[in-house]
Amino acid sequence: MTRSGPPKADETPVSQTLPEALQSDAVVESREGERDVPRHAAPAGNGAPAGVQATQRAARRVTFQGVDYYDLSSLLTDEQRMARDTVRRFVDERVMPVIEEHYQAASFPRELIEPMAELGVFGANLPEEYGCAGLDNVAYGLIMQELERGDSGVRSFASVQGALVMYPIFAFGSDEQKRHWLPRMAAGQAIGCFGLTEPDFGSNPAGMRTVAERTADGWRLNGSKMWITNGTIADVAVVWAKTRGDEADGAGGVDGAGVGTIRGFLVERGTPGYAAPEMHRKHSLRASVTSELTFDDCEIPAANLLPESGGLKSPLMCLTQARYGIAWGACGSAMACYDEAVRYSRERIQFDRPIGGFQLTQAKLAEMLTEVTKAQLLAYHLGRLKDDGKMKPVQVSLAKRNNVHMAMEVARTARTILGANGITSEYQVMRHMNNLESVYTYEGTHEIHTLVLGQDITGIPAYV
Ligand SMILES: Cc1cc2nc3c(=O)[nH]c(=O)nc-3n(C[C@H](O)[C@H](O)[C@H](O)COP(=O)(O)OP(=O)(O)OC[C@H]3O[C@@H](n4cnc5c(N)ncnc54)[C@H](O)[C@@H]3O)c2cc1C
Repeated sequence: MTRSGPPKADETPVSQTLPEALQSDAVVESREGERDVPRHAAPAGNGAPAGVQATQRAARRVTFQGVDYYDLSSLLTDEQRMARDTVRRFVDERVMPVIEEHYQAASFPRELIEPMAELGVFGANLPEEYGCAGLDNVAYGLIMQELERGDSGVRSFASVQGALVMYPIFAFGSDEQKRHWLPRMAAGQAIGCFGLTEPDFGSNPAGMRTVAERTADGWRLNGSKMWITNGTIADVAVVWAKTRGDEADGAGGVDGAGVGTIRGFLVERGTPGYAAPEMHRKHSLRASVTSELTFDDCEIPAANLLPESGGLKSPLMCLTQARYGIAWGACGSAMACYDEAVRYSRERIQFDRPIGGFQLTQAKLAEMLTEVTKAQLLAYHLGRLKDDGKMKPVQVSLAKRNNVHMAMEVARTARTILGANGITSEYQVMRHMNNLESVYTYEGTHEIHTLVLGQDITGIPAYV
């Protein structure tokens, strides 16, 4: 494994990197095939506040066993299974104990960056020569699933770092840029953000107004970006801007108005003219940093252009990578909500019997499990296609669209099963439900992916 040193003697298996875990006797292989949902203590919401809270905290500490009705585990390689189980344990041990507090405080759990880096989750499907784990895409997807089982904000951090910053540097960067940034980012020593969306251009990024003008020494950026994950804490921003004075202008111009090609630039923290104030008062993705980026005559050296980037296709290629991870991540949120709803339905007593004994509750659970299972199969096969080099962006659109919508429905249904308790921070469902509102909108809204599919089916674009 290329990442950091060997594990210390007192470390638990979770502190191993993913490939190290593959060779370890300490990580016991767990197959998800059994439908054995672990028991938890007493019912919550029984009218005894102190006891309820203790019980609820105990319930939260229950180790997650996964949801795998169709025995997908049996199709996984040892490496894929170990990647999943290692991150699952990390989420149980490190994410779950702190995530609600961070969510309530609207703070990102920065203390998780270093351990996530030690596990090798950042850019896990990028090559080992750049300090990355070099895992296949199914293993990478399973990592995203497990992270989002903890919280969409934690998965978003890893998605942006890996798929939206490390990937464009890997795909469009110079050798020097790759060697400088990728090992640092894999090790969590540098944090990245991806600036495409603008205040007036979300679903239609081709209209962007941010401009990079050629100067004697490099580029001068002017404009602004909005809704940028990790922005305020990022050491480097991948910023997409239309060029002026670039030799590539005219070759791939996108707006026909005398402004050139969209290209990617690396803007480092502290560059004069660059600011990244945090956006506050969110109801969703509260354990995630969301920021504006502003560029006011921001001068960057010529070496900070991503030389192989050109045209809107470049940022869209990055979004395909990130949406792939989201298709898996949404399964994780849904699995967490389903699991919590099953536990609750077995324990919560009304009319002298567990609410799980009522047909209406069982119908909800059957529907949730069916949809989770279908989404998992979709994500898994998409991963196989990606590993075979056959995955098409429209297939990613289908999976992102379906799986995030599925997860929202599962979260909402789980919330109803938990009754009043479902709205409290003692349970996960409403945090996931609120988070998924952002996931539904970012990386291409549900509606835009519908139009992508509609165009692919009919050959007729229906955007305007
Ligand atoms: C928490 C969070 C984090 C984010 N992180 C990032 C990030 O890191 N980097 C980044 O660049 N961006 C990020 N985004 C921005 C995100 O990608 C955009 O919000 C998204 O692309 C939608 O743009 P918009 O919000 O401007 O909505 P709009 O484009 O204004 O759309 C509003 C509504 O109109 C619909 N609509 C738009 N056009 C059409 C059409 N032609 N036909 C039918 N319906 C249409 C949309 O589907 C939507 O329902 C983030 C957003 C959020 C909420």
